[in-house]
Amino acid sequence: MPWWAMAEEYPDTVVQFGAWFPDDAACLDYLTWLRWGDAGFGCHLCGAVGRGWLRGDGVSWACGQCGSRTSATAGTIFHRTRTPLTVWFRAAWELTTRANGVSARGIQRALGLGSYQTAWTMLHRYRRAMVMPGRSKLSGIVEVDDMFIGGRNKPGMAGRSRRPHKTPVLVMVEVRSRGIGRCRVVVLQRLDGESLRSTCAPTSSKAAPCAATGWSCSGSR
Ligand SMILES: [Zn+2]
Repeated sequence: MPWWAMAEEYPDTVVQFGAWFPDDAACLDYLTWLRWGDAGFGCHLCGAVGRGWLRGDGVSWACGQCGSRTSATAGTIFHRTRTPLTVWFRAAWELTTRANGVSARGIQRALGLGSYQTAWTMLHRYRRAMVMPGRSKLSGIVEVDDMFIGGRNKPGMAGRSRRPHKTPVLVMVEVRSRGIGRCRVVVLQRLDGESLRSTCAPTSSKAAPCAATGWSCSGSR
């Protein structure tokens, strides 16, 4: 099933969303269809199509030709999760429909989850899965800037090198004649010229010095 199928066959409104995915069985049905399409179960070992049968647990499938077993969620971000699929799906809805994005804390609140870790794990897996494989480098003029996220500065602390509770990230943006193009955000291990260059190199074909900080991908600070 091509990845864009989900975009074409997905609820448009929150009311539709509730009607489509009222319980885990409905969510699993949807994932099964995404994975194998209208032809039905396809065996990853022998290649048989439409010859599988759903086992008694209602989750795993057995191949009618070679006997191998698998499930619609095997090898996906939902593999062996203990969080109900309805919660996963609802988190996806929040993630894809909030104009200003969502945080793990926001997901925890919106879904009434007792665990912040559960919300964080779902968001983390979704965001990793949303990275398009084989995506091309940023091109043209790319502006680069660094920033710190997370944590809190202790009183009296100032300057780049004294933010032990924060994570330095690099933001790279394609400059267009009107507005901006694509954007990449990468966590930096360290905040120095070498770390900056090694991060920029595989991401953009050409990077412009950033006027805001003075860092440059083509030279030292
Ligand atoms: Zn098979």
